[in-house]
Parts: sequence; structure tokens; C-alpha cells
Amino acid sequence: MESFVSQNLGEIFYQNLKAIDAKTIAMINKVNNERISYRELFVASLKTARKLKDMGIKEGDVVGIVSDNRLEYFVPIFACFYLSAIVHPTSSSYLISELKFAYRNSKPKVIFTSNNNIRKIIELQSYTDYLKDIINFDDNYLDIINGDAILESIEKFSDCDRKTAAILNSSGTTGQPKAVVITQGNLKFTMNHLKYPFISYSSDTVVIGLMPFYHFLGLLQTITIFNYRAKIVLLPKFEPVPFCEIIEEYKLSFLLIVPSIGDFLAKHPIVDKYNLKSVKDIICAGAALGYEIQTILEKKFNCAVRQVYGMTEVSGIAIACVLGKKCKPGSIGTPLSDVEIAVIDSQTKNTLGANEPGEICVKGDLVMKEYLGNAEATRATIDERGFLHTGDIGYFDEEGYFFIIDRLKDLIKYKSFQVSPVELEDVLRSHNVIVDAGVVGVPDQRAGELPMAFVVKVKNSKLSEQNVIDYVAERISVQKHLHGGVRFIDKLPKSSTGKLLRKQLREMI
Ligand code: AMP
Repeated sequence: MESFVSQNLGEIFYQNLKAIDAKTIAMINKVNNERISYRELFVASLKTARKLKDMGIKEGDVVGIVSDNRLEYFVPIFACFYLSAIVHPTSSSYLISELKFAYRNSKPKVIFTSNNNIRKIIELQSYTDYLKDIINFDDNYLDIINGDAILESIEKFSDCDRKTAAILNSSGTTGQPKAVVITQGNLKFTMNHLKYPFISYSSDTVVIGLMPFYHFLGLLQTITIFNYRAKIVLLPKFEPVPFCEIIEEYKLSFLLIVPSIGDFLAKHPIVDKYNLKSVKDIICAGAALGYEIQTILEKKFNCAVRQVYGMTEVSGIAIACVLGKKCKPGSIGTPLSDVEIAVIDSQTKNTLGANEPGEICVKGDLVMKEYLGNAEATRATIDERGFLHTGDIGYFDEEGYFFIIDRLKDLIKYKSFQVSPVELEDVLRSHNVIVDAGVVGVPDQRAGELPMAFVVKVKNSKLSEQNVIDYVAERISVQKHLHGGVRFIDKLPKSSTGKLLRKQLREMI
């Protein structure tokens, strides 16, 4: 794979897809065995680009995607790359209020969606003035790919590395969820790092397409795999049997997992029914993997289980345990090449030395451009020296291995999905007998953390814990539900300036 130095993303994918022979399969859906070849993907992306162009989509315009993982998911992504348009994928489990919030600044002119989500998108269109067209993969998309109109060639765009390629949702370090602006340069940088000694992909590689494609883990892994002309077996939703079947049937040698899947592989009895001997390398990303689970997995699979550390705001992975080098237990590894890491004392702002815990800060061409429409949050996250403050507390030892030990930021990670406590607190406060609320994550071995609410209710109100859980469940997507429960409290701990003291709430669990 070349290093994409002078090309823009459109040129890279156009040239690569064009060169692949007609028969090579790009993706197979495990559920229905449907498949898409690289040639079909290429032609569909050119037809879609032409359609978008005819609709008036041009450089810098935003195109949304609200869909589960599916074979066609990357068609609009490549089409956007060819036009130098910006893609903004969003979780398909979002409810209408979350979609409105997520898209309020990026204002996509077109959204690609599916039958499962079309109602929500039509409703979104009725509330907004930016959304001009909806393309349903299960309906009018078929007219596009069955038609003859095709984008004949890719236009050249100058200074592409600084142009926005994608907008990804993140909860940021504090406050409401944010829109992370990822440039073409950011994506090229991270795609370039997904190779030896970090990962060993080749055209023979087969991976499971399970990580959500709207999250950087799913997005990056997939576009990189496409560059290797390798294969993805799509599993739109995690289910134990098909997951194990894919590993056995395709003799997968490499697994990219999140800790909740690590927990499943380590402990679920069904795993032992399958021959998973082909697995030689496991990478765990997205959240901290417990040492106990890591040890069980290493014994069970007789291979290294490598932890990596990344974040949407650094468009991928910044620190990783690399191939062929035994990583220290519990460590997330060493910085990838051309990534500068500083551990900074959050009070004094001094850069710390070995074994001194502080905030992990990242610098390099992987750092996002900004939070869209939120200059204040951008300034609070990227300092004058260009270091992005991750909100994670960690240290490095005398040999340069990094360890994450705590989180400074508000973020809760439920099964590696981001949950913003502030977003949940706003929902809770909208209830007419809830006076105040504070949300924190309850540690949980399987899910990592469970969102839990401390609630101050109006005196003598009959509101029950279950009423609160149901109220939230009706208003927000499933991963943000109060899986950790509700506790009523007379008063929330607050600082003299009225700031919620989440640490004290956590100590009360
Ligand atoms: P996201 O942007 O959804 O990937 O979330 C990024 C956050 O996930 C980081 O800031 C960390 O808090 C957490 N995270 C990711 N990888 C790890 C890891 N290996 N160990 C501990 N926390 C992690």
C-alpha cells in the first residue's frame, strides 16, 4: 500500500477501486449471505457521486448517513470523497431529538438512510430547512445504481489535507455531545499507520464488520481494509453464534474487539464449541480492557492481546502495543510513529516525567481540526502548543510504556459507546417533578460502565426509580438508557460555583 502523500482521498479510493478485478469480493453479509464486489462498490460510488453532483452537492457540502452497518454503507462515503464533500455518519439508534442535535451545525443537504430509519429522517426534514434530499438505500438508491449516469472522472482539489473529510460525533470532554471535524490529512495519516508494525493487513485478510461504521473504529478499519483489497464479513449486530461462526468459517487470524466482546470471548461457554485456533492476533480498542480478561484471552487463544488507545478527536489510534513486542500487562503500549504524547499536570500545566500521572495529551497530524461550531470547546481541548487534551489520566514508565488509570472528563463508556452525562442530566431535568440530576458511570465488568442517575425530586412526589428509567428510555437512544439505575438523593454535591462534583457522586456508589 502506498503512503498517499500527494493525493486526496477521492483520488486514492478512485485509483484503488478501479484497479481491482471484477470478481474480488469486498463485503459479505453474514446474515443473508448477500455480497458486494469491489467493482460493484466502485461503480455504485461513481453513480452515487454523479447523482449527488446533479443534486448540487459540491466541495464542502455535508452528506449525512443514518443507517445500520450494511453492504452499501461506504458507497456514499466514497462518493463524497470523489466530490470533496463531507460525510457525517450518525448512529441509527439515535432518536429524532438526538438527530436534530447532532446535525444542527453540520446541516447535511442529503441524508442516506434505510427503511428502518426513513420515518425519523422524514420527520427530521419536516423540522429543518437544510435537508433537501433523502436517499433510502432500500428504495430510491436502487434507481441510482440501476441507472446509467456515472461520474466520469475525479476532479482535483487543491490543499486537500486541510479540507474536512468527515464529521464524527463525540461527547467531548465536558458538556453536550460535539461534532468532531476530521480532515482529509487526518484520515490519510491514520490510514497510513494501520500497517506493520501496528497491524499486519494483506489482501488475504478477512475481518468482521461489527464495529459501527459511524464510529472511527468501524470507519477507519473498513476504509483501510478496502485499500488492502481485503474482505469484510458484515455482522450488523453482535450475536454470539454468528460471531463465532465467522471466525471459524473464514479462519480469521486477526480480531479487532472492544472490551465487552473480550468479556464474551473469555467467559461465554458457547465460544468453546468453535474451533478458533486460527486467531493469532487480537487488538482491543474503545475502552479499558480488564487485566483478568486480557490474561484469560491470552491463554485461551495462545496469542498476544494488544491494547490500543485512541479517541475520535485524534481520528483513530495514538498509542498502541505493536506486533512482535511483548506489551507490559495493563499497558496501552507506546506512541505510534509521528505521534507526540505529553503527560501534563492539569493544575500547573507542567509536562510530567516518567511514572508521574497526569492528563494524556496528543499532538500530530492525527489531531482533529476543531469541534464544529464550538470554538470555545476547541480552545479548551487543543492548547496553544497544539496538544489535544484527552481528558484521560495516565502515565508512562521508564521504558516508555503508557498506562491509563483514570478519567478527568465526564464521559461514560457503555459497551464502548460514548454517553455524555450532561445530555442525560438535561433530559432528566426536563421532567416536571425532577429538580436536579447528576449522572455518572457505575463500573461493570461486562459493559465497562453503566449510566446511573442521582435524582433530586420534588418533595412528596410519587415518582419511582422505574418512572425515571422509563422517562429517559422514551427520549434517548438505547445505549444511553439508565442501565445502572436511579438513586434518589436530597441534594447533589456541588462546588461553591455550582459545579456538579461528579467525583463525589462516584464515591457514593
Ligand atoms: P471514542 O472517541 O468513542 O473512541 O472514546 C475515546 C475514549 O475512550 C478515550 O478518551 C478513553 O477515555 C477511552 N478509551 C479508549 N481506548 C482506551 C483504552 N485502551 N484504555 C482506556 N480507555 C480507553
